[in-house]
Amino acid sequence: MAPWHECAQQKAPTLTNFHDFKLHEAIARALAEQKYLTPTPIQAQAIPAVMSGRDVIGIAQTGTGKTAAFALPILHRLAMMPRPAPQKNCRVLVLSPTRELSAQILQSFRACGRHLRLKSALAIGGVSMGGQVRALLGGVDILVATPGRLLDLVRANALRLHSVECLVLDEADRMLDMGFIHDIRAIVAKLPATRQTLMFSATMPRVITELATQMLRDPVKVAVAPPATTASRVDQRIVRADRATKLGALIDILRGEPIERALIFTRTKHGADKVARGLSRAGIAAQAIHGNKSQGQRERALGAFRKGESKTLVATDIAARGIDVEGVSHVINYDLPNVPETYVHRIGRTARAGAEGVAISLCDAEEAAYLRDIEKLIRMSIPMIDRRGGQRQSGLAPMHRGAARPPGTGSPQGRHDKPGKKGRARRPNGLSRSPAAAAERQQRWAAHSKGV
Ligand code: AMP
Repeated sequence: MAPWHECAQQKAPTLTNFHDFKLHEAIARALAEQKYLTPTPIQAQAIPAVMSGRDVIGIAQTGTGKTAAFALPILHRLAMMPRPAPQKNCRVLVLSPTRELSAQILQSFRACGRHLRLKSALAIGGVSMGGQVRALLGGVDILVATPGRLLDLVRANALRLHSVECLVLDEADRMLDMGFIHDIRAIVAKLPATRQTLMFSATMPRVITELATQMLRDPVKVAVAPPATTASRVDQRIVRADRATKLGALIDILRGEPIERALIFTRTKHGADKVARGLSRAGIAAQAIHGNKSQGQRERALGAFRKGESKTLVATDIAARGIDVEGVSHVINYDLPNVPETYVHRIGRTARAGAEGVAISLCDAEEAAYLRDIEKLIRMSIPMIDRRGGQRQSGLAPMHRGAARPPGTGSPQGRHDKPGKKGRARRPNGLSRSPAAAAERQQRWAAHSKGV
């Protein structure tokens, strides 16, 4: 049987219907059951490239359907070339930065591959190794892992990597941010040289380009948004608040906004707990997830958020990475991140799979420099609203856009600061609900993206 990397198909043009990919019948059936009809742009580009056996580097933010963009063609190739994985080995290895994201990736593989007879396993930290060692004993087709636990399993002689035919590095930029670079290099050094490698990243800093040059061979590059552009469907707003008034501002926002689910970000674990406690005291059900919580606590909090028992979830960046919850209507940055790319990751949590989302950031004077860096990265200025929603803060001096102006003396921000036009239905956050206004917003974001 031809090895994985030689079993290339004809290069297919970009396709717009799942039928056109000619995926294995069992996968097509699972897709229909999940009501996946039309490929997302990253899927339309990546699926033919991966099916052709080429290495792929994909630039896509979370929420663009990138998991299926690699899971579907990988499942197809496994279905077309069935063979048992040797003991303590895997045929496909997917590395992701967090436990939650790993679990979600595995879930996607299992959902799309439910009619195939494939063995899959998860190797993540925070739980005992025993179950994972047993799962790997007989060999698996697909292994989804966080880098640290994967290396622990290799060192414990529970896993060998010489049969890996395909490696996926998901959220590569975040793995680097989280300090996994040495682990990744150590893992890649143990893999066969003849393999297919797929790398996905939301942003493309130079270090990722370098890594791709070292680890991928003549990759096809697919991208759905230029690096570091903000998810185009997200309506972004800034609310100015002092450190002491931030909790009150957050409560006002949560009470004033039509919230389905709000994901609230804090910079620190301690901050996440404090905010969750403050919200609970104000009668708003809230749970916090962060690295100090046990896997069980994290899963319970996430479960309550998913089921809608708790409309708010307070999270640190690392804990929130990879959370895939449908219907996150609002992302609220209680603290602005000091790494501007993190802002792009955060707001990508809303507006997933075609939905419209709102991202509101509380910004105190000390965070003005962070805001400046974010606006530089996304190449747009984010409009300000006041903490109770309705009125924009026209006349309120933006903290970093020139000298303070007395109220009512005009806006240094141009059109974003202009009060809303009369007669339009406006959302509590100051955004018009009318289709014309929505289309105008879309155009504005699109223009921003093009300009980047
Ligand atoms: P991801 O970017 O992989 O995290 O995917 C974001 C969300 O979009 C997930 O909830 C997927 O189940 C969903 N999704 C992915 N591809 C499609 C598709 N072609 N049609 C509808 N939903 C999709």
